Amino acid sequence: TAAPVSQPFQAEVAELLNLMVHSVYSETDIFLRELISNASDACDKLRYEAIANPQLIPDGQSPNITIIPDKAANTLSIIDTGIGMDRQELIDNLGTIAKSGTKSFLSRLTEAKDGSNLIGQFGVGFYAAFMVAEKIVVTSHRAGTHDAFTWTSTGGAGFEIGQVSDGMSVPTGTSIVLHLKDDAKKYLDTYEIERIVSAYSDNIQFPIMLKDGDAVPRQINSASALWQRSKSELTPEDYSAAYKSIAHAYDEPAMTLHYRAEGRYSYAVLLFAPSQKPFDLFEPNRKGHVKLYVRRVFITDDADLLPSYLRFIRGVIDAEDLPLNLSREMLQNNPQLAQIRKAVATRVIGELESLSEKDAETFAKIWDAFGPVIKEGIYEDFERREKLLALSRFTTTSGEKRSLKDYVADLKPNQTEIYYLAGDSLDRLKSNPKLEAAKSRGIEVLLLTDAVDAFWSSAPLDFDGKPLKSLSQGEVNLDLIPRIDEDATKDEPKTETDEAATIAVIKEALGERVSDVKVSTRLTTSASCLVAGGAGPDRELERMLAMQNR
Ligand code: ADP
Ligand code: MG
Repeated sequence: TAAPVSQPFQAEVAELLNLMVHSVYSETDIFLRELISNASDACDKLRYEAIANPQLIPDGQSPNITIIPDKAANTLSIIDTGIGMDRQELIDNLGTIAKSGTKSFLSRLTEAKDGSNLIGQFGVGFYAAFMVAEKIVVTSHRAGTHDAFTWTSTGGAGFEIGQVSDGMSVPTGTSIVLHLKDDAKKYLDTYEIERIVSAYSDNIQFPIMLKDGDAVPRQINSASALWQRSKSELTPEDYSAAYKSIAHAYDEPAMTLHYRAEGRYSYAVLLFAPSQKPFDLFEPNRKGHVKLYVRRVFITDDADLLPSYLRFIRGVIDAEDLPLNLSREMLQNNPQLAQIRKAVATRVIGELESLSEKDAETFAKIWDAFGPVIKEGIYEDFERREKLLALSRFTTTSGEKRSLKDYVADLKPNQTEIYYLAGDSLDRLKSNPKLEAAKSRGIEVLLLTDAVDAFWSSAPLDFDGKPLKSLSQGEVNLDLIPRIDEDATKDEPKTETDEAATIAVIKEALGERVSDVKVSTRLTTSASCLVAGGAGPDRELERMLAMQNR
């Protein structure tokens, strides 16, 4: 057998381990759920690969996860019969972090006083095991290969890779042996293990067996596909646990949608809206997180089952009538999936709508976390634009979060348009002189500060027959709407010739730098302001976009 080879961790991994060991996070229980969730993923992957390649699963072997506490050796082992990892996979998967955005996450974590919230959003995964273990030995045998390898590390700078001399003597799958730290010995108690598994991992679909000494191993989770059960037998606690297990999340679901569609196509749907923003919400790939199952077999979490602007939704869609061996191409072109996508998106939006009516407070939580994402749909999803506009909430000059329905209900006499002003911060917007004319008439103005507002508002839009109109673009004429401020009556009478002369002087002074100079009623106390031409891009939006691209 060759001697083990040392490998350094990727810099980000070393940094993460260092942060974790030095007490950013005190909730150590989560290590077990992370390892179990990896074991479950591995069983899922094997089952999926075996659809095309049945000999990958030895006769009589069923997928399972076994936990073995060994008090004499002071080790806790987590063993799965999943896909396993070959040499390169051990190096890549357990030596690097593939998640994009890791760097910026780590710097936020360093700054944060209590990292627990952030850790939950990020999901430290396998590396969480170093919170409880001083040494970890992973032995893995990739299904379909003849070799088995070991990965050993004490945290720190790196790990060692070795090869088992007789690979075939190691069953396929992965065994992870944790040599526990002194203060983590409680995880050898079967009571503790059962407590954590039932709290976090009860919904894992494969049996989790606990093997305590010489006793016969016993199953400690219920291993049911919860979404296949009927709503009436499930409690809010069941749903909360299912959410945490399916979404690998640590927060509570803000909205739960569980139903079964019967008819031409049958499928079960269990979806959740989180209450907390995940760290990678604005990653450029905009990947969704809904898992596709076919008759309870996991197929992929990469099937784009919902539009990108609903990518914050987590959960499962389990279809009855699809073939198990769905190719990438079929995932994109299958008419049944297209139908499911459409129906489920409509259902999710409908559910958000009714939540906004029935429980405005919870809806506000979802909107605060995910509103900027949902608004992407206003320019991307033409068919549902109306609905998404109606769902949207805006901070306005009233100081409250308002829907367009609220806004329209409070229009001033003669007001036929919905006014907005976009900019990069609420404070700056509030003192913008372009609000003066509206203020003097008591007109409410939407104050748009999300980067995404630049996109959807650049298309001509209306709500309830009222066009949306920017106060910093083109002609804004509020003359027909009566003023309510005191200055209104005291305005100096002015003459046309005065105005013409003043404009001539200003034009002369500014020359090429402006395309026109006009008299306007949009200001009351300020003398002048810069606006964009009627057809060109909105001036405030131009500024915001310039900031973003920096
Ligand atoms: P994540 O699960 O979010 O991908 P982890 O840090 O938990 O991140 O795991 C990293 C990767 O290591 C996994 O994506 C998987 O490829 C691999 N891995 C971890 N545990 C196992 C296991 N028990 N069997 C097979 N592969 C595993
Ligand atoms: Mg994981």
